[in-house]
Amino acid sequence: MQVKKKDTILITGGAGFIGSNLTEYFLSKEYKVICLDNFATGHRHNLKDFINNPNFRLIEGDIRNVEDCQNAVKGVDYVLHQAALGSVPRSINDPVTTNDVNVSGFLNMLVASRDAKVKRFVYAASSSTYGDSIGLPKVEDVIGKPLSPYAITKYVNELYAEIFSRTYGIETIGLRYFNVFGRKQDPNGAYAAVIPKFVMQLMNQESPVINGDGNFSRDFTYIDNVIQMNELAMTTANPKAINTVYNTAYGDRNTLNDLVGYLKEFLAEFNPEIANVEIKYGPNRAGDIPHSLASIDKAKELLGYDPKYSLQEGLREAVKWYWENLR
Ligand code: NAD
Repeated sequence: MQVKKKDTILITGGAGFIGSNLTEYFLSKEYKVICLDNFATGHRHNLKDFINNPNFRLIEGDIRNVEDCQNAVKGVDYVLHQAALGSVPRSINDPVTTNDVNVSGFLNMLVASRDAKVKRFVYAASSSTYGDSIGLPKVEDVIGKPLSPYAITKYVNELYAEIFSRTYGIETIGLRYFNVFGRKQDPNGAYAAVIPKFVMQLMNQESPVINGDGNFSRDFTYIDNVIQMNELAMTTANPKAINTVYNTAYGDRNTLNDLVGYLKEFLAEFNPEIANVEIKYGPNRAGDIPHSLASIDKAKELLGYDPKYSLQEGLREAVKWYWENLR
């Protein structure tokens, strides 16, 4: 498929961490970008670098509202659906709202995209779909039982997308993101992700608390690798590559102890006292699996994925951004 410059992309959740980075990237590639967001967890400051770009348009609206979805997809060529309520603990505390946004909202966007005949619907899936399966590395076809309401919603997305491509012919690709991190990820709030939270604590010389003994491991994935996957998924002309899901990761795993070690090392280059901040340990958290590691072979083979940033390389960039922007 030939993707023309100046094609229009709808990015739902465009005021959030991943959505605002995608928006910035595709505007830099001269696409027109529309963002649909209700600012539930996203922020206006994430839009400040491009809010006045003539190729950008913000629609304040809610994916739970069918009309907002219909309005947003008008004249759109591609949808990159990122809007959702993230966080496993949030979904444990409030499964109904998580389901409304992540399942009903997803379905609204899929129906609106089908009716508007968009060329492709690429959506944020999640590594949480691997649930309790213990084999490593995770390969797309082998999943376990979900371990949280959030994981259920993300798996249901995949089921709907597959049925919609089979039944209505809409092209879909799901990207199972693994622990994404990088610039603009929100460090604040009860449901903040571990990397921005720890960076802020260390910058303030407060002790981060690791859940468990720190030997749990994750496939931490830098945002620029995720942008690459979205671009490949949106533009691929390989008919075998569509209507399926891909692990979106770096393909390596590091423990929480490794992670904090790198953060201290890189932040100490800005302030040497950070090297002395003590790390604390708390109890394990419900729903956490011990280890996660993606096989990225499918994405390499079918999409030509070639991730450029390891954890260390991505962390250096992220830490610099937090130091320069949020200190
Ligand atoms: P985020 O919270 O920063 O962004 C989500 C955006 O969606 C926010 O701007 C929020 O305001 C918006 N939103 C929420 N509910 C909405 C609604 N009802 N209507 C319109 N907009 C709404 O989170 P993120 O980390 O950027 O995550 C983006 C996507 O990636 C989500 O679908 C998430 O589930 C998925 N994901 C993220 C990770 C990760 O590590 N960050 C991992 C796996 C999957």
